[in-house]
Amino acid sequence: MIDPWGSASLEYQELIEKFGVKPFSEILDDVPDPSWLMRRGIVFGHRDYERILEAVRKGEDFAVVTGMMPSGKMHIGHKMIVDQLRWYDSIGAEIFIPIADMEAYSARGIDFETSRRIAVEEYIANYIALGLDLSKKNIHVYLQSENLMVEDLAYILAGKVNFNELRAIYGFTGSTSMAHMYAPIIQVSDILHPQLEEMGGPRPTLVPVGPDQDPHIRLTRDMAARFREKFGFIQPSSTYHRFMRGLTGGKMSSSKPKSAIFLSDTPEEAEAKIRNAKTGGRETLKEQRELGGVPEDCIIYETLLYHMSGRDDDLEEIYDSCRNGTLMCGECKNNTAEFVRKFFEELSEKREKALRVAKGVLEG
Ligand code: SF4
Repeated sequence: MIDPWGSASLEYQELIEKFGVKPFSEILDDVPDPSWLMRRGIVFGHRDYERILEAVRKGEDFAVVTGMMPSGKMHIGHKMIVDQLRWYDSIGAEIFIPIADMEAYSARGIDFETSRRIAVEEYIANYIALGLDLSKKNIHVYLQSENLMVEDLAYILAGKVNFNELRAIYGFTGSTSMAHMYAPIIQVSDILHPQLEEMGGPRPTLVPVGPDQDPHIRLTRDMAARFREKFGFIQPSSTYHRFMRGLTGGKMSSSKPKSAIFLSDTPEEAEAKIRNAKTGGRETLKEQRELGGVPEDCIIYETLLYHMSGRDDDLEEIYDSCRNGTLMCGECKNNTAEFVRKFFEELSEKREKALRVAKGVLEG
């Protein structure tokens, strides 16, 4: 069982072996001009992505849905969602971004007013600053608690799901609150509502998620099948991405400030965090020259892998010179710290402007 609200980290291979997710590498060659996150294996799995590829190939309409739960600060690991959305925007998707304030209330006890404030000041502002143009007509951002179409559909969907089923998927018990039990149904509705007649009717829909969110995907696909006759729903497709590890190893988490670079950090703070991050270097320079470093164990390398969006050749060069012992961690850290500082200088400038327009996004 996978707990989407828990903090346990998941073995990616397990998702492929036990839960029927397919390796993304098998279809990578079919993706015209794949994003760097796909090319580098950060997007590692999928369900029914072929449906999305077919829609892209035929120039047909498709939707992408990915929500945000406004429960803390956005860190650099979350940036990957925005990078994926920008890529889907560039290939013509209609994008839906539900703000999961009902889930934040039921799973984290955060009241609706606080959720709204966090969503605007933290998430929406950062999405804009990271380059997603939320004023475009094909991008829809909404609060779950304010979207009556989603709420009405959720109630209809709830008619065909029972406690035993939710218990089997999520491990709910007799002491789980009704609100918490209802939260997944709202999410199912978030994902399926772009296929309602009033939204343009059934169409392929993609949900890019972290592996911990797979229970919602399985439930949604089941529910889509149960309501196919009534609404014509097409089972949604999904992709699964790896999470960037924390700066000190382990999981990057908003609740562990030392593990994460927050998007609201100053350029100096971000740079200092990179300089203190764990590397895959050897104990001594001599050893490193002889044995080479281990980029797979290095947060510096991982930062570049996830965020250096340019040519893969540059990244491969860093990988090779690390492995063969010609690149030392001091120089590599300096270059990466410089890269991160520049990125944060630009981001903090954009964030200031983005904050001013973020409020209007939920009102427009
Ligand atoms: S040389 Fe760079 S990539 Fe290699 S272990 Fe050191 S910091 Fe990491």
